Amino acid sequence: MNLQEDNARNLIIGVDDVSMSYSGKSVLSHASICLYKGDFLAVSGPNGGGKTTLLRIMLKLLRPVSGQVVYYSDGRPVSRLSIGYLPQKSNIDVRFPINVEEVVRSGGLGVFGRKDSAMERARYDEVVRLMGIGSYTGRQIGGLSGGQLQRVLLGRALMSDPEVLVLDEPLSYVDKMFERQIYDIMESLARRKTIILVSHEMSVISGMANRHVIVDGRLHECPAGHHYRPSECDEYGLEDSFPPSEMKDC
Ligand code: ADP
Repeated sequence: MNLQEDNARNLIIGVDDVSMSYSGKSVLSHASICLYKGDFLAVSGPNGGGKTTLLRIMLKLLRPVSGQVVYYSDGRPVSRLSIGYLPQKSNIDVRFPINVEEVVRSGGLGVFGRKDSAMERARYDEVVRLMGIGSYTGRQIGGLSGGQLQRVLLGRALMSDPEVLVLDEPLSYVDKMFERQIYDIMESLARRKTIILVSHEMSVISGMANRHVIVDGRLHECPAGHHYRPSECDEYGLEDSFPPSEMKDC
């Protein structure tokens, strides 16, 4: 199998010339990127640059004004992918009357057959252990600290053991100890999954991510070692070669 066939087989998400505006105001212009199985994509950029908008378009929670997002499996377009999503905490309504166990288990809905199946129970127990939330699974989410809620939401995102994990600023509100734990979890997952992570903590993330984009109304991919300024990325001419010529149709 040549490199091109290999790339095509491993392609998992294609973002094709996507633009988005709210009430006529452009927030994202002509963004394209091809993601492959096992990619760990770090996303950074200024506040209001369009990072969350790009994620929500990739998750198909938002429809772009032009362009498209296509999911792939074994080189063929598919309508669904198994994706776990950790939104920004600020997007969660904590007044909703639901407890920790219910939130975590909701991440497995539609994946496990019967809600109380042995597999679902085992996965739930594993996630609770991994996230260290066993002492408060009965608590309402409104009574949790920011860091506790972040653990619970990450647990929900992991519950289905998804192929793709999308994390929007997972380090907000967490203490230093759990931050280290999140990095460890990321590192172990990165071997098996495709990860998209929005973060301002590029110093640590850049060591784990194999790809990095800056989103500032446009999408710039940075070569390794130039993780900070879109102008540096563009100097390398990557913008012009994006998507890579052999994947123009992805
Ligand atoms: P980032 O994640 O990089 O901070 P966002 O994608 O959240 O950026 O937002 C990009 C721009 O779009 C911001 O100016 C924000 O105020 C605006 N925006 C985001 N969501 C909406 C919305 N639902 N309606 C109107 N404007 C929005």
